Amino acid sequence: MQLPKRVHIMEVGPRDGFQAEHDWIPTDRKIEIVDALSRAGIPEIQATSFVHPKAVPQLADAEEVLAGIDRLPGVRYQVLVPNMRGLQRALPLKPDGIHLMMSATESHNRANANRSIEDSMREFEQMVPAAREMGIEVEAGMACVFGCPFEGEVPLSQVERLIARYRGMGITRVSLGDTIGVANPRQVYDGCARLLDRFPDVTWTLHLHNTRDMALANVVAAMQAGVTRFDGAVGGLGGCPYAPGATGNVATEDLVNMLVEMGVETGVDLDALIAVAKVVQSLVPHRLDSCMVRAGKRTELKPPPTAQQKIG
Ligand code: ZN
Repeated sequence: MQLPKRVHIMEVGPRDGFQAEHDWIPTDRKIEIVDALSRAGIPEIQATSFVHPKAVPQLADAEEVLAGIDRLPGVRYQVLVPNMRGLQRALPLKPDGIHLMMSATESHNRANANRSIEDSMREFEQMVPAAREMGIEVEAGMACVFGCPFEGEVPLSQVERLIARYRGMGITRVSLGDTIGVANPRQVYDGCARLLDRFPDVTWTLHLHNTRDMALANVVAAMQAGVTRFDGAVGGLGGCPYAPGATGNVATEDLVNMLVEMGVETGVDLDALIAVAKVVQSLVPHRLDSCMVRAGKRTELKPPPTAQQKIG
């Protein structure tokens, strides 16, 4: 089987995961989680979002989180900035990177960003040079690339058109989101193969929600197509407000576990990461969607049953 030697992991739990949590998570606990993820060897962390506090009250402490975390050398700290106002809040704190978010469909962009795709693009055209001037890397995300809760199937030609627009702004890092977890491995392989071929100078990341339990299968398919960067959310945190039942991103610890088992390097300390997921479990009032928290690693051997434990 053809696999990359190494895969780059981006942790998005502190943004995509925490924003879906209704109960307030204290700022010092958020900082503690980001710091623990840094120490576990995650090379890039989306630490928060500079979204309007009224839209996402859980992330109203974006400034405090970004200022409060211990930024380890060698780890990159990215933040989501939905608009120019968010960028202006983020810039003084000098994140390593910003993530721009837009949807592949008009209806999802209107639901999520409250504006048309064209209006999002126009604002990005102002934001990208402002970030670059400060030496901040720009990654452009696209939600609902593989399916939309309002429009269903999304033509790849539509995705290509929007990526060409990003390229026109000089953006060479693009993140493709399966926001509601509807992609299947064949679709991911075919779509990624075509996009990698069409835009050879773009560095791609896949952002796969696990709503229909196909995220890890989709990771394998994407690696076969040449993708080497994936998002994960510690503990499988997250959801989508417009797709009832949508679950979070693939759990980072499940993703790392699969890669380790397949001999693909990530640089992440899996035991330390599972320990972080267990702390996250203690912070949220629901059971995490994480195989590693539930079942542990394959190598964790159990004692054989005693005579009394045997049935019959
Ligand atoms: Zn997401």
